[in-house]
Amino acid sequence: VNTEADVIVLGAGGAGMAAAITAKENGASVIVLEKMPMVGGNTLISGAEMAAPGNWLQEKEGITDSVEQFYEDIMKGGDNIADPDVVHVLAENALSAAEWLRDDVHVQFEDYMLFFGGHSVKRSLVPLNASGVEPIQKLKAKCEELGVEIQTDTPATKLITDEAGKVIGVEAEQAGQTVTYTAHNGVIIATGGFGSNLEMRKKYNPMMDEKILSTNSVGSTGDGITMAEAIGAQLVGMEWIQTYPTCDAETGRLLYVGDVRLDGRAILVNLEGKRFVEELERRDVISKAVTETTDGFSYLFWDEASMVASGVGEQHKSEYDDLIERGMLVKADTIEEAAAHFGIDAENLKATVAKYNEYCEKGKDEEFNKRGDLIAFGEGPYYIMKSIPAIHHTMGGIKINPEAQVVNMDGQVIENLYAAGEVTGGIHGTNRLGSDAIADIMVFGRIAGANAAANQ
Ligand code: ADP
Repeated sequence: VNTEADVIVLGAGGAGMAAAITAKENGASVIVLEKMPMVGGNTLISGAEMAAPGNWLQEKEGITDSVEQFYEDIMKGGDNIADPDVVHVLAENALSAAEWLRDDVHVQFEDYMLFFGGHSVKRSLVPLNASGVEPIQKLKAKCEELGVEIQTDTPATKLITDEAGKVIGVEAEQAGQTVTYTAHNGVIIATGGFGSNLEMRKKYNPMMDEKILSTNSVGSTGDGITMAEAIGAQLVGMEWIQTYPTCDAETGRLLYVGDVRLDGRAILVNLEGKRFVEELERRDVISKAVTETTDGFSYLFWDEASMVASGVGEQHKSEYDDLIERGMLVKADTIEEAAAHFGIDAENLKATVAKYNEYCEKGKDEEFNKRGDLIAFGEGPYYIMKSIPAIHHTMGGIKINPEAQVVNMDGQVIENLYAAGEVTGGIHGTNRLGSDAIADIMVFGRIAGANAAANQ
């Protein structure tokens, strides 16, 4: 195998492949080391929606947005503790990263957007079939086209430095052997978060224990964080671990049928049949509210018109069938019947729906001030989906500067070391808003790739 390149990238998820492609396009030779037998990471199993202010669909729909407004939303959504300089870079480059994916990587986007919780406007682009499969397939194809070498089944284990502390290579395991790789220009860490590492989760946030299921890919064990820490990198915000509010109540898997909520067309109710939180609130706020309900579950309610208009039933057909089969989702002609399936108070639910419809008529949700368009429920059939919060994104990680360089405990750059994607920290503060991760990993993946290539 090749063990020498200008740039060595660790991890072949969205950030890693964006970095590798950009480094290659900037003239560097590149090797990507991937721990799993396949590429994709958490990016692959995500919906891969991407926030991009001023995008082509917003223009078409007449939605006013700006870099500054996106910046404010990210900061506010993470309780204003994120690094402002880094967030500015994210906000400024999100649109160009989306255009790069569309025009250079040939990622197909749907012709509608989703309204993710905590954003002040609808700005999130949706890849084909609202699935990470599309961007990952296209990034992989681009890597192949450019001759970026991806070595799978090759977990990186250790960063190698010279006496001055400069990163000069990396050690990895391959077929039971330790292989040493030499990086002439630099190493880019893009190994993702640590949502699947129970011990690490508990170390930084004891509440995120084994009782909480996870949406994460098994590869998300924080390896890059551990490797970087071992050579003195600064870690930031490690205690901030996000749960996604509406996951599979049995497995913790992300559920896409529930995206009808992000289309602005569903309400969340509790066992008592009452709404208890704004449906487009931040993920941490909704998750907390769900944990405080009588049974710890939430029930997402919508009608047939919403099903058709959102298209989630068709788009995520196998998930839909599976949920119905396991009784986690019910379709019934009347509200009473649907409620009875889960033992929800039917009279209350009917009253809740009637009240919500009144708010829609008035154009104002007087209870929870739900953002976006308010669309009243009509005739049946009706749907109710049971779900729970599960571990989804780790906001903390390696501290980087706006150039995607890793910094040490004194705030100084560690030479030849870059990081991008979920492995980094400090970009989303206490809470990442939906669809900001893809923007983040693409923006900083590209910056890391370009800078590592230029670092001769
Ligand atoms: P991001 O969204 O930041 O790109 P992902 O989770 O999509 O993060 O991708 C991270 C990738 O890194 C995954 O494919 C994962 O299997 C891989 N990975 C994790 N640890 C290592 C490691 N030690 N060596 C190589 N690859 C790794």
